[in-house]
Amino acid sequence: MERRIGGLETELGLVCVRSDGSRALEPEAAARELFRPVVALGRSSNVFLRNASRLYLDVGSHPEYATAECDDWWELVAQDRAGERTFAHLAQMANTALAAKGEDAVIHLLKNNVDSAGNAFGSHENYLVDRRGEFTRLPRILLPFLATRQILTGAGGVVREEDGTSRFVFSRRSDHMWEAVSSATTRTRPIINTRDEPHGDPQRFRRLHVIVGDSTMSEVSTWLRFATTDLVLRLIETGRVVEVPVLSDTIAAIRLSARDLPGTAQLPLEGGGSETSVGIQQQYLDLVAPLATQDEAPVLEAWQRGIDAVRTGDRTWAAQNLDWAIKEKLFAQVCERRGVDLSSPQIDRLDLAYHDIDPRTGVFSSLQRRGLAPQILPEERIARARTVAPATTRAHLRGRFITAAEEAGVDHVADWTTMRLVRQGAMPVSVMDPFQTESEQVDALIAEMGEMGRRSAASPPPA
Ligand code: ATP
Ligand code: MG
Ligand code: MG
Repeated sequence: MERRIGGLETELGLVCVRSDGSRALEPEAAARELFRPVVALGRSSNVFLRNASRLYLDVGSHPEYATAECDDWWELVAQDRAGERTFAHLAQMANTALAAKGEDAVIHLLKNNVDSAGNAFGSHENYLVDRRGEFTRLPRILLPFLATRQILTGAGGVVREEDGTSRFVFSRRSDHMWEAVSSATTRTRPIINTRDEPHGDPQRFRRLHVIVGDSTMSEVSTWLRFATTDLVLRLIETGRVVEVPVLSDTIAAIRLSARDLPGTAQLPLEGGGSETSVGIQQQYLDLVAPLATQDEAPVLEAWQRGIDAVRTGDRTWAAQNLDWAIKEKLFAQVCERRGVDLSSPQIDRLDLAYHDIDPRTGVFSSLQRRGLAPQILPEERIARARTVAPATTRAHLRGRFITAAEEAGVDHVADWTTMRLVRQGAMPVSVMDPFQTESEQVDALIAEMGEMGRRSAASPPPA
């Protein structure tokens, strides 16, 4: 596909603590507090926003934000950050309400990956692929890339080994992956989820669900997750015979790769021989480079710099741009300053605080302000993305629909493919092509809502 649609779902961790750090509210109660304004506006804890994203409370009291469909990876980063800001705003409102009730309780939302109890929080990448295409050979070519992509886009973190030692890894999520490909999301935690829900015309499209990625705070890391994977998908779609280093045991390899900070561990390959994570990433980069457009030159460049950071050990660029390397440096500094090692609970807390989405108190935001983490997108662009949907996909239609409905005060429902007014006899409008940006049916719905809004404004309020 020349233009590809993608979307990112982020599950947030939710904690509510007292000033002494002990737990204040149970997650269910805290989530109820957090979603109060959402339920008041949309009468549900599962809503689509003006920017065409989906904000909802998933089972197990997990707040989740799913970006609208994007076809540009910086736009996707903007939409993802917009979700962070919206949730941070909800947390602020909830905290103000709790304080007004005299409760010693503060809600924190964490865009993290694994908590201290070992629960993993999802970060699901969605990619549109052609139904007729290469889905059967797709996992084979994609898996070695995804298993080693963490050396570029991992969030970094510390794992406790069975022998009691602590070590820094590219991605803690790697220890939580149990299968390469499967149709289940929670039980077996596959790298690629094959559940077939295209959110589009099933004759033409499939939606590829990649669930191995870390939630990333760095805009560069998030951008690279999508930009590199998009290129590898394009390589597969050429239909050419592609020689990639197929891993003999993907799950063993992903764990080894996570721990291999020097980039020298040999990962056994199918049919004999072995290759390092660095070598595997380099092979993919070299394979896709001829397919990249001029606009994608920065992707290739950043990808190469990321590989080089591991291969040479020179972290100058990575420690300013990539989550794992920013964190590696931060943890080393804090260990030295406080005379602790990676096993210290102080490091656990620092790791959580790094992923705290509150722009005033989160550690990542404070690193950005000090010029120690990248800030690529201007704050105005992020603010705009909170209410403006991506313009070049069907999200544009959904965004217009929701904005009009909210402005007219008209009850409505939407999902990824349909929009409908809530009143007797209302027919849903479907948009099955994720690239569609114009629709007479949606225009008609919006015109109708304008009329309804004017009528209700003209009639006297009920006594
Ligand atoms: P759930 O998370 O509830 O199990 P789900 O996987 O359908 O369901 P959602 O949280 O609703 O996920 O998010 C769907 C994601 O897929 C969104 O980020 C959206 O932008 C993206 N998306 C929607 N349609 C397509 C499509 N046709 N191709 C690729 N991505 C899509
Ligand atoms: Mg979801
Ligand atoms: Mg999903």
